[in-house]
Amino acid sequence: LKSKTSKPKWLRVKLPTGDNYKKVRKLVDNYKLHTICESGNCPNMGECWGAGTATFMILGNVCTRSCGFCAVATGRPDPVDWDEPERVARSIKLMNIKHAVITSVDRDDLPDGGSIIWSETIRAVRRISPGTTMETLIPDFKGERKNIDRIIEAAPEIISHNMETVKRLTRKVRIQAQYDRSLEVLRYIKMQGQRRTKSGIMLGLGETIQEVLETMRDLRDAEVDIVTLGQYLQPTSGHLPVARFVHPDEFEYLKNEGLKMGFRYVESGPLVRSSYHAEKHLV
Ligand code: SF4
Ligand code: SF4
Repeated sequence: LKSKTSKPKWLRVKLPTGDNYKKVRKLVDNYKLHTICESGNCPNMGECWGAGTATFMILGNVCTRSCGFCAVATGRPDPVDWDEPERVARSIKLMNIKHAVITSVDRDDLPDGGSIIWSETIRAVRRISPGTTMETLIPDFKGERKNIDRIIEAAPEIISHNMETVKRLTRKVRIQAQYDRSLEVLRYIKMQGQRRTKSGIMLGLGETIQEVLETMRDLRDAEVDIVTLGQYLQPTSGHLPVARFVHPDEFEYLKNEGLKMGFRYVESGPLVRSSYHAEKHLV
């Protein structure tokens, strides 16, 4: 008998190979960079790295938070590395990346929440690789507006912040976060005139489809433009279990509902991660 959490066929992916993959691998190692592709055990590394793109994770690889779904290590982070913005920007240039996705661990230990390194990184990419557009997938900065303002002022093309799950499961899935605070962050960013905002939800953590639709409606109320919906996969047995594998037809249904709600773009499918096909979200 197959266990209820054995992976269905639509989640099988190719192993990473090829020249582009090797090139990205080498640059990431040489420049001592962190990627969420690796830290998050993303199933799309073959495809994305093979196409010469990756999602950079700044501010180290140790997080002050301990979300139940996330494979990034929790603990006391390393001191801030002021050369990191330059290294990230130079590797983006060398990889010839047209659209870069940048994210970070949460740095609740820092008075600025890491927002200064964030803004330095965005500015370094502008300076060193002026042809590259950017999506910045930011933490909630505990809702601190002056920290969020630093990101808005640096003017990335897309600012995203993930809800990750529905309201009822937020405490279980990301204990140090708050559903309403995350919505407020997204609403605030839009109110400041940011052209594109984006958020992501993982499915298969025990939520109902009705709850997903409610979260999508909440995002639209906060005037969020783009939403991603993907299957949660358990990174290790110490993480939250997969409650179910959502069928591709349900992802398709949610995509259509999202478009009816007025999202400008809905990326929805089993293998979708918030940075998957990110270049298409420049709508
Ligand atoms: Fe990296 Fe995102 Fe692609 Fe996954 S989907 S490999 S995290 S860029
Ligand atoms: Fe992972 Fe982000 Fe949660 Fe940190 S805040 S544990 S990096 S999801």
